[in-house]
Amino acid sequence: MKMNHHYSELKESYLFVEINRRVTEYQKAHPGCDIIRMGIGDVTRPLAKSVVEAMTAAVQEMGTTEGFHGYGPEQGYDFLRQAIQSYYAGRGVQLEASEIFVSDGAKSDLANILGLFDADNTVLVPDPVYPTYVDDNITDGRKVIYAPTSRENDFLAMPDPAVHADIIYICSPNNPTGAAYDRAQLKQWVDYALANDAVILYDAAYECFVSEEGLARSIFEVEGARRCAIEICSFSKIAGFTGTRCGYTVVPHQLQREGLELNKLWLRRQTTKFNGVPYIVQRGAAAIFTPEGMAEIQANLDYYRRNAKVLAQALDQAGIWYCGGHNSPYIWMRCPGGMDSWTFFGWLLEKANVVGTPGVGFGPCGEGYFRLTAFGDAEKTKEAARRIQEAVRSLEG
Ligand code: PLP
Repeated sequence: MKMNHHYSELKESYLFVEINRRVTEYQKAHPGCDIIRMGIGDVTRPLAKSVVEAMTAAVQEMGTTEGFHGYGPEQGYDFLRQAIQSYYAGRGVQLEASEIFVSDGAKSDLANILGLFDADNTVLVPDPVYPTYVDDNITDGRKVIYAPTSRENDFLAMPDPAVHADIIYICSPNNPTGAAYDRAQLKQWVDYALANDAVILYDAAYECFVSEEGLARSIFEVEGARRCAIEICSFSKIAGFTGTRCGYTVVPHQLQREGLELNKLWLRRQTTKFNGVPYIVQRGAAAIFTPEGMAEIQANLDYYRRNAKVLAQALDQAGIWYCGGHNSPYIWMRCPGGMDSWTFFGWLLEKANVVGTPGVGFGPCGEGYFRLTAFGDAEKTKEAARRIQEAVRSLEG
């Protein structure tokens, strides 16, 4: 027996596990303290009424002989693929339904898609970014290189012609920094990928937060992207599906490498290794795209946007540098008093009983930064903002 020893190359524990461990330890030592958690990027608003109604109707259907659904198509039911197709068409992006693969969320597909690529490829990952990209590739034995970001480049890495990569991750709007690419910037990445015969894995999990003109919501808004990009998306943030589990991946027919059409490979992979997303869940997801569903989820997104504003205002008043919060549910703040990320984590937990995410957990370039989420309850967010402001003031005094 030979084990996959690449697992031993992973950092000891996944970021959020470590945060939980430290918070639990603090809670044990300080029973009764009122901790506000703004760490993990989970949503809090309930599912939209239209989604619940559609899922309830689907449950009823499943209880009848005529309406029962067993195994469904691995790539998703046509009704959902067509709804996603219309969603893109509404933004001027024409997709074929056969280019859309319904998934059980972005996280699985971000890892599974790598099965199409040899382990002997170099992977370019922005720093800082959603940590699973790195872990997914390390466990496969791929070489990972980083594109550093900082305040100087607005936390938006741009391609370096001197560096070669075969697989490129782009997360826009970015988790954790909230930075989002405009179309001209993405065009540079597309040109770089085409020049390097590389494939871009474009994580659009937060596209619904983009509100500024000129910023891209899909990489397929950019000319040439169909020949070099796969887009991975999710209903988790747009419609609160973090626990319901549904998303989709777009693999264009034009995307070919070494004479192989990636869409065909992915279809083969899915039909072999995946048995599809539950009918009930897909009915719920399709309801997002009805006019009522869209209005309801927009109300939830606005709720989070207001939270982001509350946090941003508190940081403005405390004189702390931050970015994000406009086209993203995340606020990426500079740790005050020259503290590093984990020191500030401990300090804020103790002084304000507020939990955030240490920026360094998303990559070395995140050192000295801290992520706050706007996905929380509005009242708790207000209270957290007040406590953060007060704690930072005490630092000055
Ligand atoms: N991609 C990014 C950038 C994320 O931040 C997350 C979750 O927080 C995911 C993907 C996972 O999404 P899903 O819930 O669809 O698996």
